[in-house]
Amino acid sequence: MLIKNASVILKDEIIQADVLVKAGRIAQIGNDLQDSEVLDSTGKYLAPGFVDIHNHGGYGYDYMDNTVEAFENILRFHSDNGITSAVASTVTAPQETIEKTLSVAREVLPKRGDHAKLLGVHLEGPYLSFQNKGAHAPAYLKVPAEDDYGYILENADVIRQITISPELDGCVELTEKLVEKGIVVSMGHDNAILPEFLPVVKAGASNLTHLFCAMSMVVMRNNKRYVGLREYGLIDDNLTAELIADNHHITPELFKMIYRCKGADGICLISDCLRAGGMKADGTLYSLGKKDDPTSQQFKVADGVAVLADGKTYAGSIQPISQMLRNVVFDGGVPLVEAIKTVSLTPAKIVKADKDIGSIEVGKYADFCVLNKELMVEQTIIEGRIIQKTEV
Ligand SMILES: [Zn+2]
Repeated sequence: MLIKNASVILKDEIIQADVLVKAGRIAQIGNDLQDSEVLDSTGKYLAPGFVDIHNHGGYGYDYMDNTVEAFENILRFHSDNGITSAVASTVTAPQETIEKTLSVAREVLPKRGDHAKLLGVHLEGPYLSFQNKGAHAPAYLKVPAEDDYGYILENADVIRQITISPELDGCVELTEKLVEKGIVVSMGHDNAILPEFLPVVKAGASNLTHLFCAMSMVVMRNNKRYVGLREYGLIDDNLTAELIADNHHITPELFKMIYRCKGADGICLISDCLRAGGMKADGTLYSLGKKDDPTSQQFKVADGVAVLADGKTYAGSIQPISQMLRNVVFDGGVPLVEAIKTVSLTPAKIVKADKDIGSIEVGKYADFCVLNKELMVEQTIIEGRIIQKTEV
């Protein structure tokens, strides 16, 4: 297939060009290219397909419903919004529920259909701090030193990333083992101070889970002032940071401050989207994690954000990455090329998938998002195939 006359968004610039796709990969980028099958994209942007490395659900489903049907519907919600690859996030839950999610993910991983590709799983917990647990069910929080986490290491083939709270006992050893297995260690939902999280950074933690949300901050302890991960995350260039750029969790002013410190190579937008993504905001109560589990947290959608049933705590977002892209361009003032990087190449790099995805380069998968000039998603293309939109 030949995608003709698009404004092609490369890593560092936007060029007018044609992109030739052969066998699902990008074969050539240039002018006046020829092929028998042509997609005319005059007046459109051709962006790399978006990569969402932290999300829980959409179209009424949560990955932890633990069915192939749930995964495929969520991945369809994603592809309808320009995402070509996604990492499925779990919430803190009983071990057998998490293990079931991992086994369903293993089944879905090789599937190619009218939906985004699954890259693997992000375990959000269960090693999270009680104080900053956010919407995670407190009954299932655990401490690594007191838990047998062998099942996590054994499932390293499907786990891309795990979020841990670095001050918990045993986190240094856990981090070393996870990093050795190729699992990305991300810090968040924590209550740590500098001397507590630095050893975990040295052990190989490399990412920050939704920076500024449910995260430690500067605090006085024993008459001494310590920075938390919010401040430290801004100054350590070895740490990348996820941002829920929905203008609620991260407001435009906060976004501008973080962007100044970290740049587009240091931040990645995540939807953290829950099962209410793509559904009507009519006050319906949804469950976080497994459906019909009486212990799972309940949330509703109010004013464009998901809140717990108490109406006070943010439970996650309902905006897809495509809306967040518009937020950071139109409200955050980020140049388009840089903004695109925060939804494609940087997340791909964070989960070590950038050899194949994340940018428009010869040899990578032909995963694209076609945008109009208002940055609305018009088409999603995965491995050279135009993905059929869901009829809503
Ligand atoms: Zn999450």
